[in-house]
Amino acid sequence: MTAIDQLRQQLCEYGGRAVELGLVLGSSGNLSARHGDLVAVTPSGVALDRLTPEMCPVVDVEGYLVEGDLQPSSETPMHLAIYGSTTAQAVVHTHAVFGTVVATTMTELPPVHYNALLLGGVVKVAEYATYGTPELAANIRTAMEGKQAALMANHGGVTIGATLEQAFEATRLLEWLCEVYVRGLSVGKPVVLTDEQLAAVVERAANPPVFPRR
Ligand SMILES: [Zn+2]
Repeated sequence: MTAIDQLRQQLCEYGGRAVELGLVLGSSGNLSARHGDLVAVTPSGVALDRLTPEMCPVVDVEGYLVEGDLQPSSETPMHLAIYGSTTAQAVVHTHAVFGTVVATTMTELPPVHYNALLLGGVVKVAEYATYGTPELAANIRTAMEGKQAALMANHGGVTIGATLEQAFEATRLLEWLCEVYVRGLSVGKPVVLTDEQLAAVVERAANPPVFPRR
């Protein structure tokens, strides 16, 4: 199997998991993975838990269809813009509930848990633009600078990774962080971690304790 066909296979696996975990309703999300100048992407209008590898189109980085009978997801321009401006090898976009709640009510998700650092700290909400447009792709590129995730105003969330697994786990983490924040608001005012507290976490992670052997 070629590398790109392996990625098409992975799109089916993670597409299925995204639906199973409730991150995506039917076809309301899309995934892609890159190999060299080629990008395998989920097709437009097919539920992500009904995919077969052959259904997943392959486009080149300029957006020309290289393989497949179905049209690529309408959000493919956004995926390509992200590949063009980051080192990402995979992109996951969903309309998961808590991420969408934050994206419809706030301009950024403040770091209330240190795991937010795995996504780059504060998660910014990209300015609203119609789905599938170059404007939306540009807004996301700006919000994503130096980060692994962004939210999209009145729309959903997007994450990147060096592999599809990483991008998928980043989407799960983004949704968890948004859920903690939103549920926190129903109990009180979520406390945001300070820059010093976050810096201390980075420092701690860089110097893990070594437990001596007996
Ligand atoms: Zn969308």
